[in-house]
Formats: sequence, structure tokens, C-alpha cells
Amino acid sequence: MSRPNLRALPLAILTVLLVSPFALAQSGNIALTVDGAGNAQKLLHIREAIPVAPGPVTLYYPKWIPGEHGPDGLIESVTGLKFEAGGKVIPWTRDTLDAFTFHLDVPAGASRLDASFDVIEPEGFSATDKLFVLEWNETLLYPAGAPSSEITFEPTLIVPEGWKFGTALPVAGEKRNKISFKPISLELLVDSPVIAGEYYRAIDITPPGEPAHHELDLVADSEAALQISPAVQKSMVNLVAEAGKLFGARHYRDYHFLLTLSDHVAHFGLEHHESNDSRLPERALLEPSAGMMVGMLLPHEYVHSWNGKFRRPADLATPDFEKPMQDDLLWVYEGLTDYLGPMLGARSGLMTAEQYREMLASTAAMLGPGRPGRTWRPLQDTATAIAGFGMGGLGGRGWINWRRSSDYYDEGDLMWLEVATIIHQLTNGQKSIDDFCHIFHGGANNGPELKPYTFDDVVAALNQVAPYDWAAFFRRHLDSTSPDMPAAGLENGGWKVEFTDQPPKSPARRMGPSDVYSIGLQLGEDGSVGDSIVGGPAFKAGISSGMKVAGVNGRLYNHEILEDAIKAAQASGAPISLLVLNDEFYFTANIDYKGGERYPHLKRDDSKPDYLDELIKAHAGQ
Ligand SMILES: [Zn+2]
Repeated sequence: MSRPNLRALPLAILTVLLVSPFALAQSGNIALTVDGAGNAQKLLHIREAIPVAPGPVTLYYPKWIPGEHGPDGLIESVTGLKFEAGGKVIPWTRDTLDAFTFHLDVPAGASRLDASFDVIEPEGFSATDKLFVLEWNETLLYPAGAPSSEITFEPTLIVPEGWKFGTALPVAGEKRNKISFKPISLELLVDSPVIAGEYYRAIDITPPGEPAHHELDLVADSEAALQISPAVQKSMVNLVAEAGKLFGARHYRDYHFLLTLSDHVAHFGLEHHESNDSRLPERALLEPSAGMMVGMLLPHEYVHSWNGKFRRPADLATPDFEKPMQDDLLWVYEGLTDYLGPMLGARSGLMTAEQYREMLASTAAMLGPGRPGRTWRPLQDTATAIAGFGMGGLGGRGWINWRRSSDYYDEGDLMWLEVATIIHQLTNGQKSIDDFCHIFHGGANNGPELKPYTFDDVVAALNQVAPYDWAAFFRRHLDSTSPDMPAAGLENGGWKVEFTDQPPKSPARRMGPSDVYSIGLQLGEDGSVGDSIVGGPAFKAGISSGMKVAGVNGRLYNHEILEDAIKAAQASGAPISLLVLNDEFYFTANIDYKGGERYPHLKRDDSKPDYLDELIKAHAGQ
């Protein structure tokens, strides 16, 4: 049904609607009010008015969250849950097989169920005293039985006094700190987060001549952190232009990069169709490496608007948030995005060609000598299993080299680079990965639209660009248990991975101090062992993930002293002696390693044309 445009209504009526958020619920829409005014205490108050018929009702709290690929809805944060109907409190029970499902009985004569509950913000995740990120799936219940595209919500958000906000969600009206949004399907509501904060700034990054509005919305823990350099701002405009050129189409009405800058939120990005929820440290934009930090995150999430939202694997395109997702095609959904994101970051100038190459060198090395888990676990399985592992499977518990939990990102990146170089070779430079993106992600802009695909659809689109046995190509990569570095794309592009004793120049060394390719240890600043390469020199000497290096050759540990010891052992041939703490017990590990320091870099292979750099040159002519 069509809804009145609240902006067109006289102020008196508008006020009534805003004061009484449940007034429209009789029409069949669900009225939802999220009160974030008490954000400082990390508690959101929710009220919901759900039209119902008398009898048994089942309500779901969103479980399978799009973009997270697992059943990791925040159910444990739901507290203070109460229901009323017809003036009476209605008891509820939770499903014995599914913690996200609630059952109730609505009494005769009642047509509306009023729900109220609180959501406790997980510590250090989405809120600080000065800002919050609202992902709507955390703050609503919805009735079982209808697809989420056919359930309509009328959302209202209350923010602390004086705060401002950014979102792709169409706004119906604002009164002081209360924002009412236009009626929207549950599917799009969950896809349209809001950032709000005391310190907020919106920057128009629409390229000249581009009809769709593009905006960078910033919230931060301080006013100072909202400053962005003219170079990074210009690169963000370039990014929008380059993405338009790469895909040849857009599938959104307008687009908002929602960037949260805080040291007290979780740092990650979550894609949405018309926005992305990205989170970086508070002073990220003030750092000399701001372009690289932005370039490694925002282009990836932006690419998802095409690859993940518009085009989505059919078995990930579920009708609601209760039906399980299947993640077997994440090597396209995430792998291709992980390739195209940094490529666009380099095309738009957020990162330099050298930074881009160092990132690829680091990725290739990590998947070669840094990844013994590739000998037992095919790439395909890393994608398939993540539905069962959830966010916890993304690698917070050490042993990354042996688990290889989410390699469909990084190894997918290199596999799609190889696809790009094969297209170039097969067509003698007449076609490129851009042609594939035009075919696979192009078409008319009908706003946010979903076009599901299968493995065969990917193969068919590639065959339209360059006929080849793409199915066999993918299966060879996806089912392999070879330990060889997946560097064919780099080599086709005219570059080789080589190891030298020179640390990478890039300030964004991805995982901190690294001796992965010498003694086989990934260490934190304090010597804690993030990872110990299974079968590597340190592992053979008894060191594993979770221990802590306390001393080096009789002296208190710091990373420079360890680097000195690795160099000295190369000259002397003597073992490196590390004092290691295992829980509360010390032991001495004597590491037999004489190879000196080793860091991966890309070296130009002059026997081949440099296609790698060609791929990351600016294409949009800005
Ligand atoms: Zn992603």
C-alpha cells in the first residue's frame, strides 16, 4: 500500500504522528521505535507495535545476518523482553531448538501486539559515549510466515540531544532528537544502518556529471578526527567514478559511506546495498597512511553493492533472517570483492602502485610458506564451513596458518587476479576483467535489486568475455591441497615474489612485527605469539600460538633484539635461544635457523609485459 509523505503533511499532524509512533500500526505496518538517548549506558530501549490476529504467534529475532555469513545475531543482548495485547501482559516462551524464536498466544479481540525490550551494546563493539552505529537487525523482532521483503516497518530513532546522523534510509521527518523514517521493507531496513554522534560531518563525494548522490558520512570520538586530507577526499570522489567505470552501472538510489572513527568500537566493515558500515581507529584519517587504511576497507565494502548485494549467490539470498545461509560461493562474494576493492583503491589513488604490490606480495607469501593449512584444507572448504563457524571462525583464536579459517578472501583475491590475467592473455589484450564486471554486474539501475547467481552463471559470464574451461580452472584452485604459493596471477602480470632481508616499506604492515618467513613466528608488540607456523623452526622448538616470548638470548624481549638475534645466527650458525612463557611456566626454546631475515616483495620480471600495473591505472579519466 502507498503511504503518505510525512514531509507534505501540516506540522500539527506531523507532530501527532511523531509523538505517537504506534498510530500507524493498525494499517498493517510494524511501528518500531529505537530509543538510543541512553546510549552512554550502552543500553537501547525498543518498542514495537506488531499487527496480529488472535491465536498463536511466532516472532523471530534476526539470526542469519547478511554480510556476516553466519548465525551470529545478537540474541544474547536481548533483555527486559515484555509483550502486551488488549491491555494484558502476554507470557512468552522461547523455542527449545532455536534461541532466536519466540512463541506467544494473542488473546481474542486483540489486533496489536506491543513488544518492548532492551538491547545491551556488546562492550567495545558499536557504541561509545560520543557515537553509535545502529544495525537495525539488532533492535527488532519480526513475525514468522512472510518474506522480509514483504514486511513493512515504520522506524523511529531517538538519539541523544544535539547529535547528528547519517544513513541511506529515507527520512520522513525530524523533530529535535527524534527521527522518523519512511515506511520500508524489513529487508531494506536491515540493509540500512544509521551512524549517529556528537561529532559528525557529511562530505559530498559525487563526481562531476554523476546523477546519483554519493556521500561520506563521518562520526568520531572527537571533532579533530573528522578532518580529512584534500588528497584522500579527492581519491574518494575518484573511487566513485572508478567503480562506475568498472561496473558500467549502479544499483542504488544514492550511496553513503558510513565511517565510524573510534578506538572503542570493533574495527571492520559491513556491506549494505546503498551504504556501508565501516569502522577505523579514531585518528585514522589524520595518519600519513590514511589513504592506505581507507583504501583497504572502503572500496571493498563499496564493491559489495554490486558483488554481494545486487549479485548474490542464490543460496545466500534467503527469504528471511531465520533460514540458514549456505556459503559455498563466498570465494566469489568475498574473493572477487577482495580483488576488486584494492584494485579500485589503487585506481582511485587511495594507495600507490607500490603499496598495492606490497599488499599482493604479502598475501601471496602468507598463502605459500605461511599457510601449511593449505595441505589439508581445500579453499572450497574455507567458504563452505564458515556458515557453521560464524564470526568466531574468522581467526581470533590463533593457529591461523593451520586452521586457514577465511582464506576465501585472500586466496580468492589472487585467484581472481589470475582470472584477470587469463582474460587479457586469451583475448590478446582486447578484453579485461572490466568486461566481465560489465556483463555480470551491469544492467539498468532499478534501485536496490537482487539478482541471484550460481556457479554456472559465473562460468557463463566469463565465457562471454573469453571462452575457456573456467569451470575446470576454478575447481582446480578450489579443490587443491598443494602447498605451492598461488602466484600464477602475479607471474602472468609480469611480477615474481622474492624474499629479501628488507622489511616492507608500507606503513600498513598488515599483521605487526613479523618473522613468519624466517623463524616462523607472528608476534605481537609484547612478544605474544599470534601464530607459529606449523612445521616451522619455532614450532619445531616447541613454540605455539598463545605462548609469549619473554627473552631473546638471555635478554628481555623486544622485536629489534629478536631481529638482531636472527641476523647474528646467520653469521654464527648458533641456535637462537628464546625464553618462552607457556601459561605460567617458562621454558627455553633453542631455534635452529640460519637463514637470516626474510620478507616478501614483488620483483619485476622483464621477460613479460607489466600487466599488473596496467590493471591499477586510473580508468575513469579523472
Ligand atoms: Zn566483504
